[in-house]
Amino acid sequence: MQQDSFYREYGAILRKTERPARYIGGEFGSCNKDFDSCKKRFLLVFPDKYEIGISNFGHKIIYDLINKRDDLLCDRLYAPDKDFIDLLKENNKTLYALETKRCPKEFDVVGFGLQYEMCYTTVLKLLEMSDIPICSSQRDLSHPLIIAGGPCTSNPAPMASFIDAFTIGDGEDISIEILEKFVQLKKENKLSRNEILLELSKIQGVYVPLIENNTTKRIADLTYENHPTMSPIPHFASIQDRATIELRRGCGRLCRFCQASHINLPIRERKKDDIVNLTKEYIKNTGYDEYSLLSLSSNDHGKIEEILKDLNCHFKNTGISVSLPSQRADKFSSGLANLAQGERRATVTIAPEAGTQIMRDRINKNLSEEQIINATISCIKNGWNKIKYYFVIGLPFETYEDLDGIVELIKKVNENCRFEGLKYPQITCSISVFVPKPHTPFQWARQNTIEEINKKIEYLKQLKSSVKNVKFNFHNPVMSQLESFMTRGGKDIQEFIFELYKNGSYLDSWDENLDVDMYYKTANKLGLDIEKLATKEFKSDEILPWDKINYGVDKSWLLNEYEKSKQVISTIPCEVKCNNCGVCANLKTHKVLDK
Ligand code: SF4
Repeated sequence: MQQDSFYREYGAILRKTERPARYIGGEFGSCNKDFDSCKKRFLLVFPDKYEIGISNFGHKIIYDLINKRDDLLCDRLYAPDKDFIDLLKENNKTLYALETKRCPKEFDVVGFGLQYEMCYTTVLKLLEMSDIPICSSQRDLSHPLIIAGGPCTSNPAPMASFIDAFTIGDGEDISIEILEKFVQLKKENKLSRNEILLELSKIQGVYVPLIENNTTKRIADLTYENHPTMSPIPHFASIQDRATIELRRGCGRLCRFCQASHINLPIRERKKDDIVNLTKEYIKNTGYDEYSLLSLSSNDHGKIEEILKDLNCHFKNTGISVSLPSQRADKFSSGLANLAQGERRATVTIAPEAGTQIMRDRINKNLSEEQIINATISCIKNGWNKIKYYFVIGLPFETYEDLDGIVELIKKVNENCRFEGLKYPQITCSISVFVPKPHTPFQWARQNTIEEINKKIEYLKQLKSSVKNVKFNFHNPVMSQLESFMTRGGKDIQEFIFELYKNGSYLDSWDENLDVDMYYKTANKLGLDIEKLATKEFKSDEILPWDKINYGVDKSWLLNEYEKSKQVISTIPCEVKCNNCGVCANLKTHKVLDK
């Protein structure tokens, strides 16, 4: 649709909606290809609001790689807010993709990014608004292929009825391969839809629920060419308003609760020169005045100091600054922090995760109390007065002494400040609730009940009253229980997701939308006990709903890590020494360190 006819048709409702800029497209850096002249069309869908989705790095990569090809088209869709949905409905208008203004059902492949479980019902609503049957079994060859990627595909079972094919592992080249194969097979006109799905299931990294095939994750090469140097610049502030350059993928620290660490192995570091050149190019193309060096643990990159020195030198006196989103306390140095923060002294974030050494060893954090305190004091001495700590409560084998340890740690930081003559910092503790995640050593573990967590929260609040310079922010335990229920759920919760969608559940990761009662009532109606399933301890020989998905890590290795957690034995990081987790042998790959 031409821009002028689009505004004629949708102008009136855009003027009435709360944030029209979410729905107009045409951002600087967007591709805006001609729909009719490209015969292979992919629609990338982020089932959350524009300002969240447009910052997603995975989506930026796929959008860039598909659109780099002249014969392919990639458009975008973000979940409209409820006011815009009502306006579309009242005015009998259809949902449209951002750039081509075409209905999603006109594309060949529609790919959802599943980042968190609370977006599942949003996916169903977006299918409904696109006039695409919700269930895969009701679709035919007149409909697009519905695929899904992202971390939630580590357990496809809860969404298996609604998605035709899941992509497992790195998404760089698999989206293009699926798009090309699907269009080609459809064009040949020889196969039924189910036969085409069977063909797609033969691609490495594709799981087709209809076939229930075993599949092994895809690993992409992290080349210069595979990284975007341009991406659509949002019309208004998004959650990450900066250029993002990926330093490394995977993390060899192997914290036992961390899914991202285990499903992204082996570690692959980008080369220093590539990172420096990508950053310069990205900043030049976009005009951003800030860039972020993305990684699960930024200061683990072998050449991080050299990278920061080169970039600081290049951007000197330009006002362009850098942020390192995640830093390890044991590798923290004030020199590095100064290089990263320049003259800005925003909040420094440190993630001890647990308050006592025994618990940090159980979760394999490989971090001592001394390292945490030293990193904190070093920050304070260098001008940071706001410290943010991340903790997790409800971890396997946790005792109340571990909770005491959180407050004791803060008291020791204060004691050290007093000893050094430093002003006490403002400390904010962000405290989340443990959620057992598939493909981690803690995938078998039970989650605490809400009653247990609430008791622990009350206990911590009482302890906190003895320390003045600290604020506790607790993650909602109910949300964590729902997350645990859905992340380890089997096929039996597909109906639950469908019922929630029918009852109006949409954009539920937003507190104002989440109707907790509806979740529990719907589960009750279907005979499902959310708390029982969320807090279940799986047996070690039990078949798990995600067993068909192979990320390369041996199940026996994960189980052994769980056992080591019980016995308080930690594991050396993969960067230092290979632990034979299985990934490199099973996937015929190896770690890549830029040393
Ligand atoms: S097999 Fe060894 S080197 Fe490879 S990811 Fe596992 S621990 Fe790291």
